[in-house]
Amino acid sequence: MKRPPEIRINQFQLAVLLNDEQKNFFDAVVAGNVFCAHCGDVCNSGITIEEVFLTDLNDIHVKGTCNTCNGKVARLIEFGEDQEFYNKAMDFRKSIQN
Ligand SMILES: [Zn+2]
Repeated sequence: MKRPPEIRINQFQLAVLLNDEQKNFFDAVVAGNVFCAHCGDVCNSGITIEEVFLTDLNDIHVKGTCNTCNGKVARLIEFGEDQEFYNKAMDFRKSIQN
C-alpha cells in the first residue's frame, strides 16, 4: 500500500483526531517526556508546541521549543499502529483534500 504524505495539521485538527485517552497520552508526553539535546535531559518544564505533523505512518510528529532552555525539540508520538486511529487519520486525510 502506498504511504500517504506527511502533512502539517493545526491544533484543532489534532483535537479532532485524538480521542480522550489519546489526548491525555499526548499531553503527558508533551508535558514531561520529550528529550532535549541542549539540556541533555527531558524537558522538565514541558515544551511549547510550534508545529504538529501527521506522518506517512499516521504517527504524530511534534516540533517545538524546550520551556527550560528554549532549544528546538521534536518528538514522534506513535499512534499509527492503532488501527482505529490509522483509519480515522485516513478518513481525515480524505476530508481535507476536498
Ligand atoms: Zn532544553
